[in-house]
Amino acid sequence: MSKKYAIFGDIHGNLQALEAVYADAEDHDVNTYVCVGDIVGYNANPSECLEKIRTTCVAVVRGNHDHYVANDECLEDFHPLAASVIDWTRKQLTKDQLQYLKNLRLSRMVDGFTIVHSTLDMPERWGYVIDVLDAEANFNYQTSSVCFHGHTHVPVVFERDGQVTRKNFTTYTTRLGCKCFVNTGSVGQPRDGDPRASYILYEPDKRRVTLRRIPYDLSKTQEAIRAVGLPDRLAQRLEHGK
Ligand code: ZN
Repeated sequence: MSKKYAIFGDIHGNLQALEAVYADAEDHDVNTYVCVGDIVGYNANPSECLEKIRTTCVAVVRGNHDHYVANDECLEDFHPLAASVIDWTRKQLTKDQLQYLKNLRLSRMVDGFTIVHSTLDMPERWGYVIDVLDAEANFNYQTSSVCFHGHTHVPVVFERDGQVTRKNFTTYTTRLGCKCFVNTGSVGQPRDGDPRASYILYEPDKRRVTLRRIPYDLSKTQEAIRAVGLPDRLAQRLEHGK
C-alpha cells in the first residue's frame, strides 16, 4: 500500500478544526498522520487535541508553545496574550501530558523527509521563516530533499534549485535535485486571511504535495474559548484568519 500522509501543525487546542482535518484526511484515504508541533496554546481544548495527536500520529515534533507549556521557563519573549494562555494551558494538562510535550524532539526524519516546527537552523531558537533569506539558512541544514514545518501559520513553499524562491501553492510537485521547505499552514489559527483550517496531503510516490483548506464550525471554538474565560480577542481573530 502506498503511503498517503496528512501533515499538519499549529493546532493550538482547536479541537473543532482538528476534527474537521481528520474527517477530510479520512475522506482522502490518508493512512499516516504527522504533526509539526504547537498542539497547545490559544484555544480551549489542549488536552483533547494532545490525546488525539498522541494516539494517531507516527511522528510529532515540539513547537514553541508545547515547549513553554511543558517547561517552567520565563515567558518574556511571548506576546502577553500568548503568555496568559500558556499559563492557563499548564493547568489543563496532566503530568503525563506535560511530560509527553517535554519529551518531543525538535526535528525528526520520517520516511526520507524531515519535520521541524520552526527551522532546521537552530530550531531551539524558534526563528520564523518568512523570506528567502530565512529559508536559505534552513536549507544549509536540510539534508533531505523535502522538509515540512509550521510556526508562521502561513502555508507557503520555499524551493532551492540553484537559488531560493518563495511560492504560494495549492499543489506542488517535488523534484529530484531540488530541495523544498513546505509550510503546512495552521489547523487551529490560520494567519493568512483565510479562516479555514490548513493542512498538507503528501503522496511521496507521486511526488505530490497538496494544500487542503477545510471549513469548520468556528462558532463552536469561539464558544469554547469564551466558556473557559480565555481572552475574547482569541475568539474574534479566528473569524479573520489572523
Ligand atoms: Zn503556532
